[in-house]
Amino acid sequence: MKITVLGSGSNAPVRKRGMAGYIVEADGKRLFVDMGPGCFYKLLKKGIKVEKIENVFITHCHWDHICDLMTVLFSKAYHKLKQTPINIYCPAGIKRILGTMFELSVLATPKCKIKITELKKSELKVGKIRISTVSILHSKKLNSICYRISFKGNSVVFTGDYYFCEKNLKTLSRFAKNCDLLITDSSFGEREKCNVHPRPRETAKILDAVMPKSVLLSHLFPSAADSDLINDVRKNCKEFNGKIIKARDFMEMGV
Ligand SMILES: [Zn+2]
Ligand SMILES: [Zn+2]
Repeated sequence: MKITVLGSGSNAPVRKRGMAGYIVEADGKRLFVDMGPGCFYKLLKKGIKVEKIENVFITHCHWDHICDLMTVLFSKAYHKLKQTPINIYCPAGIKRILGTMFELSVLATPKCKIKITELKKSELKVGKIRISTVSILHSKKLNSICYRISFKGNSVVFTGDYYFCEKNLKTLSRFAKNCDLLITDSSFGEREKCNVHPRPRETAKILDAVMPKSVLLSHLFPSAADSDLINDVRKNCKEFNGKIIKARDFMEMGV
């Protein structure tokens, strides 16, 4: 599998770090995980046209993960010859957001088939790529979806945004166990207080429980991006000894 980071930042983007989005390529197919603002334009710059966007997996309803999904749909509506079907996999709520947006904006809806599948704990396949999902808490009131994408015995797990609590630790330790690459929310540095994202010492606890081969720290707010994040995670790990990588926009990795 090939993984491309489109956006390694958060909803406080900076010049070199845009909002959430990734491409997973395997079996001659492309899966898109999250579609934050700016991702669609980055895809066009990479030569990926709108008609090639057919399978989009959304982790949760926050703007930094979904805004360009709307741009993709409007672009499909505008380019009448490019209205290939689109499958959107997402947590509950996205259908309502898209419906309201099309209703209130009074703009053309694409004529193509739009299939929206709202997920909780699910197993699905795109070609020979296997996708498992589980629900995780982003906050006490908001669920997010984690994706485990597997092909030919290798797997990458996207945590999406989450906060550290015993329940999420238990969920991730089972769901992501021994994956090849864990792409994790790493929004903030140690000094920041936040009840919707983990801090380095909490990420270390997740890594000790999951024991992935390597981890990509992503969804970085500027303060985390500017800190010694890798060292801050590493020094708190008791068991995990794998590779720790700080995500960058347009970074490509093989799994
Ligand atoms: Zn986010
Ligand atoms: Zn979020």
